[in-house]
Amino acid sequence: MNAEIITIGTELLLGQILDTNSLYLSKKLAEIGINLYYKTSVGDNITRIKEMLSIAANRSDLIIVTGGLGPTVDDVTRDAVAEWTGRKLLLDNELLHRIEQFFKNRNIKMPENNKLQAYLPEGALILENKVGTAPGFILEHNSRIIACVPGVPAEMKPMIETGLIPYLIEKYGAGKFIILSKRIKLTGIPESLIDEKIKDIFIESKNPTVAILAHQTEIEIRLTAKAENKEQAISLIEKLKREVYNRLSDNIFGEDDETLEEKVAILLKDKKLTIATAESCTAGLLSYRLTNIPGSSLYFLGGVNTYSNESKINLLGVSAETIKRYGAVSEECARQMAQKCREKFGSDIAIAISGIAGPDGGTVEKPVGLVYIAIDFKGDIKIFKFNFGGLRDVVRARASQMALFELYKLLKTS
Ligand code: ATP
Ligand code: MG
Repeated sequence: MNAEIITIGTELLLGQILDTNSLYLSKKLAEIGINLYYKTSVGDNITRIKEMLSIAANRSDLIIVTGGLGPTVDDVTRDAVAEWTGRKLLLDNELLHRIEQFFKNRNIKMPENNKLQAYLPEGALILENKVGTAPGFILEHNSRIIACVPGVPAEMKPMIETGLIPYLIEKYGAGKFIILSKRIKLTGIPESLIDEKIKDIFIESKNPTVAILAHQTEIEIRLTAKAENKEQAISLIEKLKREVYNRLSDNIFGEDDETLEEKVAILLKDKKLTIATAESCTAGLLSYRLTNIPGSSLYFLGGVNTYSNESKINLLGVSAETIKRYGAVSEECARQMAQKCREKFGSDIAIAISGIAGPDGGTVEKPVGLVYIAIDFKGDIKIFKFNFGGLRDVVRARASQMALFELYKLLKTS
């Protein structure tokens, strides 16, 4: 069974709200092994909704429509579906009673237009709304299944879970398969190199399928398996996962929702190490990320935001001579920043970052994106030099990312 999602609402097209409904529905469909091939958003407009239903019915067996089931004039999903299927809207007395009861229970007089919600296309199967007034419904039409649910996420979700999914499982045998994904997270490696290293599996593997997704500072390799049960899917994924790890282990730091700062935090706590930071071009981004983790006070002692030369000299004790001779963005300055920072805070580790975030301030010898990261690990200082291309926020994000990643690698082998 191939599915398609249509989200209704002009607000979705005006950029006023984010379509989270289809995100939720995508996950739910994957859990019961239904392929989802298309998602579209349409405004509150009968003609365009009907047009979209025609397109969807041409290519999908199951069409899930969210939104536009409310009682107001701009809620037109019911009418659009009735017109498109050529069915009459009929008053369902049982439903009307339930809606009246909903208001009675709250001691409110039911507005007249709520009565509209008790009208459903002929032959529709009701999906009960346990949270609000708008009922959902399922309509079988020309061997297509059309399921309409409210736009309000809190009303839609229970309807999917207790209504639509059991219906699909019972009537169409959905759930015989599940679709499961594993995301392997990497950093410090370009997408093109990953592609080169796993190109053959990428092409050959059909189950699981392999996809590469690049984010600002991280890349994900997604393995997606379809199998009869979770155990089988996991075992299919595991086999391929091992192969990916064999080829790319140097740059892998985690899986699924794990974050780099989380992995660093675990190692710092395990090894009972403390850390402090001295940041110039990232101005606190690194300390912010280190302290995003609950319980970070166990390892994070503090950080200084030494943006100006004077603050590097006066707050940290970097020598004025060093800055004059080599500049603030230099191996020598980063080294001293880390060393002095560790001294001041009395920590086991100190990380210093100094670089040129741009867009101005670059020269031929020191271009925008040049960043030095120094890690003082119990007196052993390592310096890393990077040339991050990109805009200001990219340079800063990458600088904090590589500082964390170099620290992560040091911690793993220490
Ligand atoms: P109601 O009975 O509350 O009017 P409805 O079915 O008519 O329900 P809409 O009017 O389309 O739903 O949307 C109501 C609200 O639900 C929107 O203002 C928005 O906050 C939320 N909503 C609608 N569609 C989505 C979506 N695709 N993703 C996330 N939220 C949505
Ligand atoms: Mg509405």
